[in-house]
Amino acid sequence: MSLNVQSQSQETKTILKCTKCGYTEERQFQPGDFVMKIVDKTCPKDGTPLIIWGIYTVKQEQKAK
Ligand SMILES: [Zn+2]
Repeated sequence: MSLNVQSQSQETKTILKCTKCGYTEERQFQPGDFVMKIVDKTCPKDGTPLIIWGIYTVKQEQKAK
């Protein structure tokens, strides 16, 4: 068993949500993002401005070249 920590990197994701219909989408975290911030993006269903609903970090394994 080998734990190769160096081959892993973290990726931060931001969850956007429409408070009107519950539509959610995910995008890459951008500097300045914080929960409940209204982003410059609207719901594709009803045009309501999306808010940042959550921010989370995932560990991703990167394949060495
Ligand atoms: Zn909506």
